[in-house]
Amino acid sequence: MRLIASLRLGLHSFIDLILPRRCVACGSVLAYHEYHICPWCAKRIAYNPISNWELNNRISQWYHIRELQRVAAYTIYERDSVVARIIHQLKYGHKYELGEWMGRMAASELDSTHLFDGVDALVPIPLSRQRQRKRGYNQSELIAIGISKLTGIPVWSNILERTVNNTSQTRVEFWQRYTNAKNIFRLKPSVDRSLLEGKHLMVVDDVMTTGTTLFSAIMVLRHIADVNISTFSWAWTRTGSSQHSVASSIYAEEDEEQQGEAPEGTAAIAEEG
Ligand SMILES: [Zn+2]
Repeated sequence: MRLIASLRLGLHSFIDLILPRRCVACGSVLAYHEYHICPWCAKRIAYNPISNWELNNRISQWYHIRELQRVAAYTIYERDSVVARIIHQLKYGHKYELGEWMGRMAASELDSTHLFDGVDALVPIPLSRQRQRKRGYNQSELIAIGISKLTGIPVWSNILERTVNNTSQTRVEFWQRYTNAKNIFRLKPSVDRSLLEGKHLMVVDDVMTTGTTLFSAIMVLRHIADVNISTFSWAWTRTGSSQHSVASSIYAEEDEEQQGEAPEGTAAIAEEG
């Protein structure tokens, strides 16, 4: 056994020598035992201090939603931060393997906070069909899979879908856009609603900026009888609460849908979707 372990270590070291793995945040070469980020960057991940998962002031407009149980975010997203770089690599750097790792990391650290207690299923925020085809994966689903591997909570990816928006968005006024944004999801027609009744569903998203995306999902799910809803975002931005930011995030989301992948450095607040 010891021989096999040594051979494996040798093989890994050899591969690392030929094709060095690099930190997704700073690009430095990783040691054999390091995965995805270096210790220097790992120390710079800003964790969300909220530990009791009560609704916070930022989303006070959600207070009236009685089905809502917990609203959680794991890290804080700031421009050019380690968190921002991880998210950027996950979404635009085709580093899909980061998603499950991110979910596992969150689940292992948050399990003791009882965040996942009583949750029956994880419901990832879906991408549009076009986007999913282009990217090849749904980053929120990968994060959910990572959480699932540690908690045993199943991932239900086939509940929500994006509605097809036929109206041209280019000249639509802001509030019209905002209203449209509220209706971006629906239950898939094939879903057996009776299977969802009385369940505690946790909606999983990669980044929460304004909350518009999560809010839209909640608005759809709350019509299920006796349902409880919680939300989990791997990261959230503290700057997204003003109307200006709501507008810019919606514009950005649409622009992203229309123009394709965001180039490096432009994804400051515009990370929803
Ligand atoms: Zn690094």
